[in-house]
Amino acid sequence: MAQARAIRAGELDPFSHESTAAAVERLTALVEAQARTIRDYQATLAHSQYIFEHASAAARLGVWECDLADETLAWSDGTYDLFDIPRGTPLIRERTLGFYEHDSLTTLQTVRSRAIRERRGFSLDAAIVTSKGDRRWIRIHATVDGAGNRPTSIFGIKQDITEEKTQLERIRYFAEFDDMTGLANRNKFQTQLSLLCDGEPRPQASGALLLIDLDGFKDVNDRLGHLAGDECLRETAHRLRAICDQASIVARIGGDEFAVLLERPHDARAPQLAARIVAALNRPIDRSGRRHDIGASVGVAAIDGCPAPEVFRRADAALYAAKAGGRNTFRLFTAALNLSDHR
Ligand code: GH3
Ligand code: MG
Repeated sequence: MAQARAIRAGELDPFSHESTAAAVERLTALVEAQARTIRDYQATLAHSQYIFEHASAAARLGVWECDLADETLAWSDGTYDLFDIPRGTPLIRERTLGFYEHDSLTTLQTVRSRAIRERRGFSLDAAIVTSKGDRRWIRIHATVDGAGNRPTSIFGIKQDITEEKTQLERIRYFAEFDDMTGLANRNKFQTQLSLLCDGEPRPQASGALLLIDLDGFKDVNDRLGHLAGDECLRETAHRLRAICDQASIVARIGGDEFAVLLERPHDARAPQLAARIVAALNRPIDRSGRRHDIGASVGVAAIDGCPAPEVFRRADAALYAAKAGGRNTFRLFTAALNLSDHR
């Protein structure tokens, strides 16, 4: 009892009277407990690593670090995968830069140097061509670490954003182009016409607008079906593209309506181009062993300083005159055409 009281009061070392065997037993238990703790930490670490690698793979991202003293790189498995490089391959920074497309590499070098100089991070979308030849877009987020005023390393995340970029490019494409013919759509055409007619600072107001509408196109649809009609529209686009090589834009602006913009000095040849378009679209279209006879009427208006809607109205009036004049022909807008008396 007295001994226990003395141990509790700290007056007596509880192990001072311990036998050697007991001490060994106690130390062994201690070592085992520590080994268990280390094993637990290792298991937790391995689990975290597992979760990290799997989550990284799912998000198609990888972690990277570059030691600024000697440019040594450290990549996670996900980063190797982004570049299609076998995991664990020794890395040489200069060689990894060879995977970047020229423009992306130039931007990367610029923002990276600035980030190191100013000790702050950056984000960048970059295009790469992997070791297997696949083109990918990666989003890089980087941050700079340092000791005192000296930057010591740059590290961050790289993520595959190819899908996102592809979808964005498709959205952009559909905002400006007609899917069926590949020509510019009405939206893009109107933007260009407005720029030419109403742009600031006001450009030299000069140019010509040609509006084209197929003749008897409904008949192709009615007799041979919509798919045959689509074939005719594609062939029309193909022929227009071939002969309007000096146009600033060739667009499909409606069902069977097309528009061509000519800027100076090519606008002087607008009547000749209109005649060539009529001749080219009057040639029969042979598709799947069938022959389609269609034609086109064309209206031409000069761009001479009036606003875009007025230029469009004039070309439309000329087109209407061409239709009224028997189709398969073109008309130039003149003041004599009654603007109110057309479609
Ligand atoms: P007009 O000689 O007076 O120009 O008459 P048209 O028969 O050419 O017919 P119109 O220009 O008045 O109308 C164009 C037709 O084009 C109406 C529509 O059925 C058809 N169309 C519109 N878009 C498409 C399309 O994407 N594919 C097909 N196959 N037909 C279309
Ligand atoms: Mg038509």
